Amino acid sequence: MSFTLAIVGRPNVGKSTLFNRLVGKRLALVDDQPGVTRDLREGAARLGDLKFTVIDTAGLEEATDESLQGRMRKLTERAVDMADICLFMIDARMGVTAQDKVFAEILRRRSAHVILAANKSEGAAADAGVYESYGLGLGDPIRLSAEHGEGLNELYAMLQPLADEF
Ligand code: GDP
Ligand code: MG
Repeated sequence: MSFTLAIVGRPNVGKSTLFNRLVGKRLALVDDQPGVTRDLREGAARLGDLKFTVIDTAGLEEATDESLQGRMRKLTERAVDMADICLFMIDARMGVTAQDKVFAEILRRRSAHVILAANKSEGAAADAGVYESYGLGLGDPIRLSAEHGEGLNELYAMLQPLADEF
């Protein structure tokens, strides 16, 4: 059996970087400039002996008439409904933002399984943000560096017991 993991979170936290790492191919675009990726993107992921489907959420970067808040809610809800497990990513270097708190609320209400990931956690500059993320009410964060491939063993340890449920 396999499961679907959705990576959600506000723009620029590193979702596509993790997606690319898990999929091993450059299916999702990664860019320093907001506005490159859009909507939802699916890939076949591999982590250790786990094989699963991963969904990258994007499309929040584009300016439209609809409010960011409204689009964020719709897109996140779509992703959550498609997924068995949600990985909610924050940028530990930035700390917890007001937008992060909106996402956390959606996930708390809507998703059965949420893994909190504090990304960009390489180095001590992330310590305060990692600590702050405990306050989101989504359990203990995993310290991740999608760019440097750190914390993937912790992600595996969180996914592995859940994988047996699906
Ligand atoms: P997304 O908008 O959430 O999909 O974020 P991206 O994956 O496009 O990444 C946004 C920026 O953060 C890019 O410049 C990435 O190189 C950078 N980034 C991603 N992961 C890390 C990380 O672990 N550490 C650091 N320092 N930068 C990262
Ligand atoms: Mg992206």
